[in-house]
Amino acid sequence: MRLSSLEKHIQELNRYLNFHKVCWWIMDIENEPDLFYCNQYMEDVFNLDKSLPYHSVSNTCPIAGDYLKNVELKSSQQAKLILAEYQDLLNQKTAEYKNQFPYFDPRTNITHYFTSRAKILELNDQGEVAIIYGIIEDTTAIVRQYRRIKKQHKMFKELSETDPLTGLGNKRFFMKLLGFSFDKAQREQTELAVLMIDIDYFKLYNDYYGHLKGDQCLKQVANAIKNSLSRKTDIVARFGGEEFIIFFTGASAQQTLQLAELIKNNVELCQITHPKSPVSDYVTVSIGAYIKIPSIENYAAETFIKYADKNLYKAKSLGRNKTVINESSL
Ligand code: GH3
Ligand code: MG
Ligand code: MG
Repeated sequence: MRLSSLEKHIQELNRYLNFHKVCWWIMDIENEPDLFYCNQYMEDVFNLDKSLPYHSVSNTCPIAGDYLKNVELKSSQQAKLILAEYQDLLNQKTAEYKNQFPYFDPRTNITHYFTSRAKILELNDQGEVAIIYGIIEDTTAIVRQYRRIKKQHKMFKELSETDPLTGLGNKRFFMKLLGFSFDKAQREQTELAVLMIDIDYFKLYNDYYGHLKGDQCLKQVANAIKNSLSRKTDIVARFGGEEFIIFFTGASAQQTLQLAELIKNNVELCQITHPKSPVSDYVTVSIGAYIKIPSIENYAAETFIKYADKNLYKAKSLGRNKTVINESSL
């Protein structure tokens, strides 16, 4: 290694990059492309042999060579990217590279996250890269904080879109997904179906058994509805009070009717006794469904809910514990 020609740079780096907890390294690419010199702090962090004046890139560099076992680059895609960026620097395609990598420290069994930056320091007379240098900073605290915030954000989002009683999505959740699917069904000209489900004579149930038992009944009905759905793409939510709503795409009117009948039967099969119901010994539901290919001219996703609701009203007026599909229709 041409230590003598590097000595000046090393002295300067020791002066200028003497920051707290900053690793720095320097390489004579022209003469010794497999060796790097670094500060003591970097030797500490990556457990490098301090008795050596310099280190081997392929054997001990934390992010070069074969990506040593301690570098937890879980996807080889990321490893390739880091290598590609390093090559770009050597080929002068980029003036500076910056990447991040997780590093498992076997001494503490803790994974740290580092940000690594490198730049060209000197070109030779032919204009080729002669010396490169870089800094590595421990960004574990920032990464951890970022993850914590992301997790919290996800939790808040879930809370704001979940009905606490039944665990189903709420109206906000439903309207958001329905909006996306409406646009897609309109673009692709596929059927969109909306089912409105309402418990029959629920006020009488509450009056007879009390609100707490009413809540229990709502949970059971919610489960019966959820368990009747087999496709991941069937979206179900508690729309409010004792009303539930479902949408899905790509089914026929016949399939929609079958599903509505299945839900209606499965709720009754729960055999939740309802002594005050004029239509059954058990709690029942009425269902209004609307299925159509959204027209290009457009009417909004809400139209599907409006017509499903009109059909629900019909099911109620027909005596309840009934399913009505597309009788009210555009
Ligand atoms: P219909 O067959 O026409 O739907 O009659 P219904 O009695 O089910 O309808 P109505 O709209 O008259 O009453 C709905 C009842 O649902 C009234 C309200 O007390 C009850 N309810 C709404 N939300 C909840 C809830 O979160 N928990 C409980 N226990 N009851 C609720
Ligand atoms: Mg209702
Ligand atoms: Mg009701």
